[in-house]
Amino acid sequence: MLLRKAYRYRIYPDAAQEKLFGRTIGCCRLVYNLCLEQKNEYLRRRKSLSKFDQIKELTALKEEFDFLYEMPHHPLQQAVYDVHAAFDNYFAGLKRRRELAMRGIKANPEDFPKWPTFHKRGRKESFRYPDPKQIKIEPERIFLPKAGWVRIAMHRPIAGKIKNVTVSAIAGEWFVSAQTDLESEIPVNRGPAAGIDLGSAQPIVLSDGTVFGIPRAAPTERRKLEDAHRTVHRRKKGSKNREKAKLRLARLQAKAARRRRDAAHKATTTIAKNHGVVVIEDLKVKQLTKRGRGTAEDPGTLVKKRANENRALLEIAPRTIRTMLEYKCRWYGSTLVVVDPAHTSETCSACGVVDPESRITRARYVCGACGGDFDPDVNAARNILIKGTSATGGLPGMACGSSQTIGRKQEEDAREGGSSALQGRE
Ligand SMILES: [Zn+2]
Repeated sequence: MLLRKAYRYRIYPDAAQEKLFGRTIGCCRLVYNLCLEQKNEYLRRRKSLSKFDQIKELTALKEEFDFLYEMPHHPLQQAVYDVHAAFDNYFAGLKRRRELAMRGIKANPEDFPKWPTFHKRGRKESFRYPDPKQIKIEPERIFLPKAGWVRIAMHRPIAGKIKNVTVSAIAGEWFVSAQTDLESEIPVNRGPAAGIDLGSAQPIVLSDGTVFGIPRAAPTERRKLEDAHRTVHRRKKGSKNREKAKLRLARLQAKAARRRRDAAHKATTTIAKNHGVVVIEDLKVKQLTKRGRGTAEDPGTLVKKRANENRALLEIAPRTIRTMLEYKCRWYGSTLVVVDPAHTSETCSACGVVDPESRITRARYVCGACGGDFDPDVNAARNILIKGTSATGGLPGMACGSSQTIGRKQEEDAREGGSSALQGRE
């Protein structure tokens, strides 16, 4: 099987390289926006315009904006490809929506890709080198076209063949991320099955009781963040000092995000490595957060409580964890099953009775029917495991063999069908 992995490293460009990267990002944005404008115009007139047509026009564009000659050529081409990929995405989503509509299923448009929009400054601060032949990586430096050798911090070695390299800026710090392909035989993971609750009280709780903590902002860190926030607002709009304060805030936020991400990586690797079947809930985080705000009729007595719960949810980003599990289960030969989240926290995992009243506190679940007394998160994780393994209709760990891939259409079917299972998709 071909495995695609991404490796991200911090790089330390010198002043000239940093300037070149910044300008390349700007030029890619320019090319993207011009191509998008042209493509929009052609679509309006119902005429076709392929990415190859637009790539050819890059030469003319370079004559018009001669500073483009100083930029590496391939990233500019990639910007053209990105426009077409965005449209392909949009139209594929539209097709899926129509198919669902034909079967009488009303889908939420929010769940589908939107019509491509112009890139604004600060939104996508990156560009991509698509040709691995032009890139050389050594333990302490990386060669990038037009920029030359850039110092790199290789905190772990790269495995596999490099496909492309993306350079990005986050809060003034630079990174490269290399995508690689690795040919490998993956044995079926025969480990036990586990249900996972991505929940309120504890970030990640397994059905066997294991808890993985994801560091939230520590009190000192939170104070620093609040302080940085206040400083930004105190300073005059448009002033240099305000920009500086903004950068400091962004750096603090990026650092905290990086720490959470590292913890999430460690947890998901352990989970995928040690289990043959991993069952998670299909959490609609968006809907959860929307509900928390309350409405005019129901100003929300629960709003505050929910807001706290939601913050916890957002801090661990269940979607990130799900994505990580999706590809890591593939790496480690295990199967990811996604189940309908309905009633997983109100059902007793011992006797199966559904009773919302049973859950007496956030820290304790006591079943009104059988008297079972559990940690509510572990109880939910067990219910998730039961749902996942009964849906695949077999023994845990043996149910589906190695991770299979299914199309998005089937995933939607599974969602509609409630408790049906689905495997990690490609
Ligand atoms: Zn019970």
